[in-house]
Amino acid sequence: MQRIILASSNPGKLAEFNRLLGDSGVEVVAQSSLGIPDAEETGLSFVENALLKARHASQLSGLPALADDSGLCVTALGGAPGLYSARYAGRHGDAAANNSKLLAALEADASGDRSAFFICVLVLVSHPADPAPLIAEGRWHGQILRQPEGIQGFGYDPLFLPDGQACSAAALDPEAKNRLSHRGQALGRLRRQWAGDAG
Ligand code: IMP
Repeated sequence: MQRIILASSNPGKLAEFNRLLGDSGVEVVAQSSLGIPDAEETGLSFVENALLKARHASQLSGLPALADDSGLCVTALGGAPGLYSARYAGRHGDAAANNSKLLAALEADASGDRSAFFICVLVLVSHPADPAPLIAEGRWHGQILRQPEGIQGFGYDPLFLPDGQACSAAALDPEAKNRLSHRGQALGRLRRQWAGDAG
């Protein structure tokens, strides 16, 4: 069985990627299980950071590596919180503070434009210097609500009303979210590219 390093230590992501690639004779292993530290995310875009993370994990493991990078881009805020989505309010992963800061930023904006999208970029390199990585992107468009709604999901989900839906991402059934979301779209595209590449 071929092993691929996942450039993340998030157990939810590990399970998701193993489900994605499990039927193709591949085992996905978290970089933390090999003692590989997180890469420095010095890129200016999601795709640059996903590439940095994948190359770093491949370099240190000697194996093919898969990385993802995701976040929320709000039109009226010039794409913020963007690359800094996880630590918009200062402390990494403080979703309540991030959501409050986002509401305040839009309150202070005169345009009235509340459109936004979540983005997820996945990168798979076969070796550290791979000149032709597989790259798959998904975007989930919607509007930022005026107050939080729903208790499922994570991050900015309570403030995100997806286009075509009647409730926030945090009030959607998790299976429905996975089907529609930026991450679900990117995973589907990577799976198709992977199948095409392997076939
Ligand atoms: P990461 O790529 O998993 O580190 O995600 C970066 C940050 O983007 C997260 O900490 C969240 O704040 C935000 N984010 C990414 N995907 C989602 C989502 O599906 N729902 C809500 N927030 C998200």
